[in-house]
Amino acid sequence: MLFGTSCISISGAFLARSFNRKFSIQTGSKLEGKVALITGAASGIGKETATKFIHNGAKVVISDIQQQLGQDTATELGPNASFIACDVTKESDVCRAVDFAVSKYGQLDIMYNNAGVACHTPASIVDLDLAAFDRVMAINIRGIMAGIKHASRVMIPRRTGSILCTASITGIMGGLAQHTYSISKFTVIGIVKSVAAELCKHGIRVNCISPFAIPTPFVMEEMSQFLPGVDAQRLIDMIHNAGVLEGAYCEPSDIANAALYLASDDAKYVSGHNLVVDGGFTSMKSLGFSAPADQVQ
Ligand code: NAD
Repeated sequence: MLFGTSCISISGAFLARSFNRKFSIQTGSKLEGKVALITGAASGIGKETATKFIHNGAKVVISDIQQQLGQDTATELGPNASFIACDVTKESDVCRAVDFAVSKYGQLDIMYNNAGVACHTPASIVDLDLAAFDRVMAINIRGIMAGIKHASRVMIPRRTGSILCTASITGIMGGLAQHTYSISKFTVIGIVKSVAAELCKHGIRVNCISPFAIPTPFVMEEMSQFLPGVDAQRLIDMIHNAGVLEGAYCEPSDIANAALYLASDDAKYVSGHNLVVDGGFTSMKSLGFSAPADQVQ
């Protein structure tokens, strides 16, 4: 244990260096002068990415349907963050969020369509709840289309921009989640390919990220519905244990790092790409490994 009795003889300076290496906020300048809008940024992956972008020099507009939490997040992240309420199912909200970013900061360089929800319907296709299907698609698909549409509106005249979307490994292989969620994420990857094919001629890159399961609020809520009575720590352990990469588990910072790469000039020639961040899980599947469908988002 790092801070246990066996470490007492180690100097304070060494401990401070070790601590800083492990826990310090890594700053850089990869997004200096850039302006980003992130949907679903009040918590989880979106919040972590907003933090990472700001630490790399960007101004970030946090948008979310959760107004108080979104405002609190912007306050916590400091003067280079601002918040605008936005329900991605309403095109007028998305349009307003894009216009807010441009009027406040003069431009929009990065649009990260990250807001997404899981689906609380029975697993079998014969029990498919089409009303729930429509609700999920309105956020996970239509919301993304609105984000891409309005970001393109302001990026095309400037002939530059980076559009990101959060997909999922459940959009790469069937059987990892319920149909509705999985289909929504398969569609995100298709959207990215289709739109990247058009926007390349305007100098705009379009990419997505497919994370492995991470115990963020919506995943925890979904898991606790499937497994009522199981305590939170046990659920987190189950999610982490579903991974296959020895010595690590998937965290919001892994997705934020992927987003930073795709948003920055490091990825200046990368477009139409789905960056899978799964520790090799979807490669293992070809060897016959499988996880229960309700364990992976
Ligand atoms: P999260 O619950 O922490 O964040 C999702 C955010 O989206 C919340 O702040 C929520 O308020 C917001 N949101 C929901 N509906 C909205 C709407 N209509 N308009 C605007 N905002 C809305 O969960 P997260 O894991 O950070 O999820 C972010 C994205 O990552 C989602 O698209 C999700 O599908 C995807 N994803 C998550 C995992 C995972 O295991 N956590 C894995 C793969 C993909």
